[in-house]
Amino acid sequence: MLNTLSHRQELFYNHLAQTSDFPLALEIERAEGIYLYGQNGQKYVDMISGIAVSNVGHRHPKVLEAIQDQLDKYLHLMVYGEYIETPQVKLAEALVETLTKSKALDNVYFTNSGTEAVEGAMKLAKRFTRRSEIISCFNAYHGSTQGALSLAGAEFFKRNFRPLLPDIRHIRHGNQDDLVMITSRTAAVIIEVISGEAGVRVPPEAYHQALRKRCDETGTLLIYDEIQTGFGRTGSFWAFEQYGVVPDVLLCAKGMGGGMPIGAFIASQEVMSVFKNNPILGHITTFGGHPVSCAASLATLEIVQDILNGTRRNGETKEKSVIEKGQLIKELLIHPKIKEVRGRGLMLAVEFESFEILKPIIDRAIQRQVITDWFLFCDNSMRIAPPLVITETQIREACAIILDAID
Ligand code: PMP
Repeated sequence: MLNTLSHRQELFYNHLAQTSDFPLALEIERAEGIYLYGQNGQKYVDMISGIAVSNVGHRHPKVLEAIQDQLDKYLHLMVYGEYIETPQVKLAEALVETLTKSKALDNVYFTNSGTEAVEGAMKLAKRFTRRSEIISCFNAYHGSTQGALSLAGAEFFKRNFRPLLPDIRHIRHGNQDDLVMITSRTAAVIIEVISGEAGVRVPPEAYHQALRKRCDETGTLLIYDEIQTGFGRTGSFWAFEQYGVVPDVLLCAKGMGGGMPIGAFIASQEVMSVFKNNPILGHITTFGGHPVSCAASLATLEIVQDILNGTRRNGETKEKSVIEKGQLIKELLIHPKIKEVRGRGLMLAVEFESFEILKPIIDRAIQRQVITDWFLFCDNSMRIAPPLVITETQIREACAIILDAID
């Protein structure tokens, strides 16, 4: 087979560790806005934002400018938490300002990735509550390191890596009956506001209120993993704003960096202060909150706020909101083979009868230069999560191609 591959493809298959036998293996030369440009003039529409990362589009000029400015000042100076680095301080301030209605969330710990934010938050919860049990959801994904993997709600991914962390229990996302499993033994519940890899499951509003109440009753920390849902993806800056509840710890990453690697866990000063003693240096990282990533993230945060405030204009007309764009996709993707389009804002799942029906549709859409995908724990549904900057015209064009691929 290797004979038919280009030299670069050979290098890719031979020297880059593979995680499946069927990587997408697209060769992208450059990216701009919602488009990825291939080697031979292809112009792909990125309808998944590199899995909910490129919320502000690829290479947003303001993000590039912020990166360039920081490149001219300094790169890594010192391990996290020792020097006063302006990009970190400014970003922490801006993040806390997005949370002013949630007074408890005023202290930010920067990481390199989502998984590391999860790991830090798990340690924080254990140390703060002095309990060990952590509850997460069936069909949840919180990362691939051994702590975060322990939370995964699917045995298939964990079986061959055991022993993992003990004292992890699972509840059904959105099901109030299971909340009784949260007890005074439970250090934390780690949960997504909208369950992403389960195929975008939006719980009823009352669920998060009941969850908050149960955590309060049992002295359990409520940790919202907004790694996928944060930074505007669902139509508000944080998804939890739509539910009228506030977590004790908030996790973010992915879209936060505008294409640069960064994550964070955010809590109150009271909770976070436990990392200072017994032991001192309770959680440390070399690169967490890299100054270039923080500079990019601050620009990203401001762009997302502009998008959500509706200050962007597309020619003369005011652009549709993220919620309206999601609604438009729901209205356009109507087809006898589509069973349902669910989700909030631009975090959507398009459900088909089976993976066998969906897979060739995804392949044909890619041939027609529209990139979609499926979900870790829901293989009969197509992932739709384009950059939030996608325009109405671009949405119409991409949806027409998806419908064409179905036919
Ligand atoms: N939590 C959620 C909800 C995620 O979707 C992901 C990534 N898909 C992670 C955590 C892990 O983030 P990362 O890949 O940046 O480590």
